[in-house]
Amino acid sequence: MQGIVRSGLGKILGVALAAVLGVGVTGCSTNPATGRSQLNLLSRAHEISIGSEAQPQLVAEYGGEVRDPQLRAYVTRVGMSMVEYTEGDFRDLPWEFTLLDSDVINAFALPGGKVFVSRGLVQKMTNEAQLAAVLGHEIGHVTARHANDRISRQLILTGVVVGATVAAGQSDSDLVRVGVPVLVGTTGTGFSLSFDRNQELESDRLGMRYMTRAGYDPRGMLQLMEILRDASGERSQPEWLSTHPLPETRIRAIEQRLASGSYSRMIDAPTHSLYEERFRREFLSRLNQLADAGAFNRDVAVGEIVPIQWGGWTGECCSGCAGASCGTSHGH
Ligand SMILES: [Zn+2]
Repeated sequence: MQGIVRSGLGKILGVALAAVLGVGVTGCSTNPATGRSQLNLLSRAHEISIGSEAQPQLVAEYGGEVRDPQLRAYVTRVGMSMVEYTEGDFRDLPWEFTLLDSDVINAFALPGGKVFVSRGLVQKMTNEAQLAAVLGHEIGHVTARHANDRISRQLILTGVVVGATVAAGQSDSDLVRVGVPVLVGTTGTGFSLSFDRNQELESDRLGMRYMTRAGYDPRGMLQLMEILRDASGERSQPEWLSTHPLPETRIRAIEQRLASGSYSRMIDAPTHSLYEERFRREFLSRLNQLADAGAFNRDVAVGEIVPIQWGGWTGECCSGCAGASCGTSHGH
């Protein structure tokens, strides 16, 4: 659920590049969420600083956030209830869940734990499990470290990492001056927040894991996909569809998972719920009340969103880290 935001490019890329130049190639490690071995050019601190730098600009692009304390607290509670069940020490990230005051239908995440969902999307929801599904999916992008995959890939492709090694004696600012145009030239238009199809499917898988660990009925993920599919027939297409596989593809994968042993046992089980009533009472009624009072933005102009495809590269580490032990495994 991402796109490219054109403005602010230099700032974001500058942070990414400075991060890489500062740390050099840190090698590979196995991600505890995905079980995949990843090439890590960005440290956790770098991911956090990239997310923190980009956050205010993205919020502004979407017309600001919904500031109502009750709605903010609700979204944060749902998100944090799943963060608790993330792997390794991901729960220690500075997680933040933002409800964007925009009619567009979208959600996305920045590295380091910044998660965003639009008002346009949540207004189509009918229960809390659907909200957990979209937030869980975005949490999955963070824990799978998909942004690190993308940026690492880009830096290797453009030779910035090699160049930084060769030019080790130069100052960071010199390297930034050389390296940024290389990066800009590669993306052509800007810093992309879109991920490839394998990464999206991986986030769906992680999202279902996190939402069910937190006690949500896994059918909420299927219902979320159906909401997005149905919205695709409307006048304005969900932005989300510009960067994601067609919901039909993902719906099939989710249906298969729901039919499998562990997930099928959670459906209508006393341990898992869709939380329809609570969603209406604590969230939707307040949202509708504020909408009726004209408290939200109208016709917000959102920055141009352009998808960039990465041809299925999923950040497998073997292509970029000679000499390291780069075995891969696949978690589900
Ligand atoms: Zn996504």
